[in-house]
Amino acid sequence: MENNFDTICAIITPLATGAVGIIRLSGDKSFEIIEQIFDKKIKPKMINYGHIIDKNTFLDEVIVLPFLAPHSYTGEDVIEIQTHGSPVIINSILELILAKGARLAARGEFTKRAFLNHRIDLSQAEAVLDVIHSTSSKSAQNALSNLGGYLKNKTFEIKNNLIEIYSRVIASVDFPEDVQEVDKNYIVSKCNDNILVLNEILNNSRSHDFIRDGLNACLIGRPNVGKSSLFNALLNYTRAIVTPIEGTTRDTIKESINLNGYLINFIDTAGIRDKNKADLVEQIGIDNSLEAIDNSEIVLFLFENSANEIDDELLKRAQNKQILFIKTKCDISCLACSEALEVSSKTGFGIDKLKDKIVEIIRNLIPNDFNYTTNKRQQTCLLRAKEALENVIKTSEFEDDADLYAMDLKQSILALDEITGEVLTDTILDNIFDNFCIGK
Ligand code: GDP
Repeated sequence: MENNFDTICAIITPLATGAVGIIRLSGDKSFEIIEQIFDKKIKPKMINYGHIIDKNTFLDEVIVLPFLAPHSYTGEDVIEIQTHGSPVIINSILELILAKGARLAARGEFTKRAFLNHRIDLSQAEAVLDVIHSTSSKSAQNALSNLGGYLKNKTFEIKNNLIEIYSRVIASVDFPEDVQEVDKNYIVSKCNDNILVLNEILNNSRSHDFIRDGLNACLIGRPNVGKSSLFNALLNYTRAIVTPIEGTTRDTIKESINLNGYLINFIDTAGIRDKNKADLVEQIGIDNSLEAIDNSEIVLFLFENSANEIDDELLKRAQNKQILFIKTKCDISCLACSEALEVSSKTGFGIDKLKDKIVEIIRNLIPNDFNYTTNKRQQTCLLRAKEALENVIKTSEFEDDADLYAMDLKQSILALDEITGEVLTDTILDNIFDNFCIGK
């Protein structure tokens, strides 16, 4: 992998009017460049107050934060300049820095350098992206725990176990006279132990997707039962059109809210009635509603008078989902005793209780001790690591071949190495950092 350590710079705050804008420089020439444009001598490890000057033109009053390598985000000499938050000023300072010999940083290049300079491993670099894009406090917490090295440490733990078996197997292959053959049962039991840990992480990966992308909860029921009204009440603003006319909601509408730190995507659907009575547009809406059930983790079945209003086919469609029955419009009529939650979107009655119930379901779906994240790339690596260990076990069922064991154990170790970035191609690396924004 080729490391290009020229000096890069970028605006690292959003380019919009605000109190402060920050420009970051990283690389060997960072100090040389700032000294050409700052009116004071830079004192390392200090907060430097002064002015940016272009020839004799005063550009801004700024604060300069100098970080000496390797004690910086990238592991290189880094300068951060805090300017006033005017896009005009920030751009003019950036142009000046470029004219002094820095290059504009590519997407994610600061973090890429942090990785290449061994400040962080790849799982931590990816966590930076997750932290920036976190959609709820829970997803931010998990991304931060990865940034702190949680997934890295977990991966190292498994890898070290495998290296221990691998080296014993390889030693017995290379030095059959000196090293005793490793007991097949020992290898199989060690592989099984590590498969269990990998499975645990992979199972939790589903939780990661929930935490990052949110859980889907769709509202299903006959036309006019009050789906759009409840949808609006849950969002706390009027997002869907509400009318007494049947078939008003023809398409699904999705909107997200944060409930106790979890992201929930509510989906309002077209009312489901006899398909034969619906016009073509409504029929498409109905099909979308059925699809919404398939794509949701939680299904809210709404009815006005009796749960019998809900079609058996729909119940069947939702059989693997978390289901909540909701009696609507309870300001007009209430059920004496019911398994259903009673709500009134008109008065707000029962809405908080419904939200609490949804949070309870989410807490059951997402384990409490789940405190790290895995993205799709990492999940693929974990799966490959697991499959390679399963191959070791399969091999052992037919023959006792140390060479084959060694081959698969090595594959498993290499797959884990990809998570932390010890084995990587330029293409994988580019794919990862292309998802970053400029300045990160
Ligand atoms: P949808 O077709 O299932 O989406 O139902 P809407 O939300 O569009 O509501 C249909 C009708 O029922 C509208 O006239 C609403 O004003 C009325 N409605 C909805 N929720 C309530 C409620 O909680 N109480 C009362 N009294 N009327 C409601």
